[in-house]
Amino acid sequence: MREDEIEIPNTHPRAKSLRIREKLIEGFRKGLVAYAGLIAHGRGEAFDYILRERTHQFAIDAMRAAIASFMLAKHPVFSVNGNVAALVSKDYVKLAELLNAKLEVNLFYRTRKRELLIRDELVRSGAKEVLGVDEEYRTEIPEIKHLRRFVDTRGIYIADVVFVPLEDGDRTSALIKLGKKVVTIDLNPLSRTAQWASITIVDNIVRAIPKMIEIYRDLSKKDKEYLLDILRNYDNARVLSQAMITMKKNLEELASKGVFIEEVKDYLGDKI
Ligand code: ATP
Ligand code: MG
Repeated sequence: MREDEIEIPNTHPRAKSLRIREKLIEGFRKGLVAYAGLIAHGRGEAFDYILRERTHQFAIDAMRAAIASFMLAKHPVFSVNGNVAALVSKDYVKLAELLNAKLEVNLFYRTRKRELLIRDELVRSGAKEVLGVDEEYRTEIPEIKHLRRFVDTRGIYIADVVFVPLEDGDRTSALIKLGKKVVTIDLNPLSRTAQWASITIVDNIVRAIPKMIEIYRDLSKKDKEYLLDILRNYDNARVLSQAMITMKKNLEELASKGVFIEEVKDYLGDKI
């Protein structure tokens, strides 16, 4: 146990969320997660509060469209950053394998050390091949200025559908402008990534990836026409709209009560 690690009892009302936070701190300690990754997680958590930490129907609709797109893709690629590796490494590798997608390390705050650490984490999680770490296959996306412009010639460079969960807006827009279909997971429906992506899953990545594995198991039994139909009926603007409406409704409902947490109500008793 780390000296600063906290023990989280199962009975703690926010046990799940605290455990996710601990995973990220552990990832930071190991060198997988960047400083900015910790801050990004905080942004995500704030939106998850407003979603009441649940996977909603609009997210399921986006997941189904995402899985259909990966199944129909010629070169599906899953991008990996520090937060993804720290939070869902095993399931992410598993989903990529089920969908025959390549895994590519791609970091906003790129250092050789972090890149290799993430590769090792993916290999430990069962990955047979990890792109994005080999200088020999590195090329640039000219539209992007920062370090994330580098991509693998066997991966994102030739990909038709790219999965970029917890991604930065500049990179997402550059991939879209290159003609690629972009799938993201982002708890913030207002972010540039959420807005630019072709398919936006507004959910916590920790809930979303296992759910996507489940959805794959269902869709793998369907024919091509069925998958095409999912995509024909999919509208990302509508999904974003539903995410925002759900947040608005949740806030309205909670606002009507003011204090809504049971333990606080119990403590305050007559005073509210
Ligand atoms: P953008 O560049 O897209 O406008 P940004 O600069 O706020 O957004 P980035 O750091 O570039 O954000 O991307 C991280 C995104 O991932 C944020 O929108 C954040 O809300 C989201 N996020 C963080 N943790 C999670 C998580 N566990 N699950 C889903 N989304 C998350
Ligand atoms: Mg950003």
